[in-house]
Amino acid sequence: MRVIMLGPPGAGKGTQASRISQRYDIPHISTGDMFRANLKQGTALGQEARQYMDAGELVPDDLVVRMVDDRLSWDDAQDGWDLDGFPRTIGQAEALDELLEEHDTPIDVVLRFAVDDDEVVERLSGRRVCRECGEIYHVHANPPTEEGVCDACGGELYQRDDDQEEVIRTRLASYVEDTEPLEQFYAERGLLRDVEAVGDIDDVTDRTLAVLADIEEPPPR
Ligand code: AMP
Repeated sequence: MRVIMLGPPGAGKGTQASRISQRYDIPHISTGDMFRANLKQGTALGQEARQYMDAGELVPDDLVVRMVDDRLSWDDAQDGWDLDGFPRTIGQAEALDELLEEHDTPIDVVLRFAVDDDEVVERLSGRRVCRECGEIYHVHANPPTEEGVCDACGGELYQRDDDQEEVIRTRLASYVEDTEPLEQFYAERGLLRDVEAVGDIDDVTDRTLAVLADIEEPPPR
């Protein structure tokens, strides 16, 4: 199964992608997580990406595409993947098409997660992330058992620098300008499916998995 997650920051793509990845045994490939890992390790790529990430702006396409090209060549990605946060521009989507054509591995579905702007700000400003394993929490909607500590691995939870309200607004504007055109791009190819991303997280997962099950089993003729 090859899945792309589309939707504004804070739509819950990361949370749902990690559940899809468990259910289908495919890697959850988050370009945001990859950049953050590079930052933490102090790589040249991390240094280059930092200025854009801090400002809530997109990292230039060529850097992102090179990173994804490499990641998709790993063994674990040969039978499927769930791409979270990529592509984010038409240029990235076209580059991805070229990569996938070379390997004859087409996209199965593009899931669009829809939420409104105020909800995004509420969600992201309350979001906490595990420093060790990347598990995502929310101070109200999905709190850990012990404040500041990851249930999954015991790691320390922190707030991302770009989850401050001002930066969130910039990220939302970038979504509308750069990424929303992808909805049309994939709709025209019959790949776009909507998932209502509001309400209980488990309900959103049920809706997401129902869409994927539907794709796996085409309706009887
Ligand atoms: P995310 O965790 O997906 O919200 O990504 C965090 C930040 O990483 C974004 O605000 C961008 O600065 C950068 N980033 C992640 N994915 C991409 C992408 N596909 N294209 C450009 N920049 C990206």
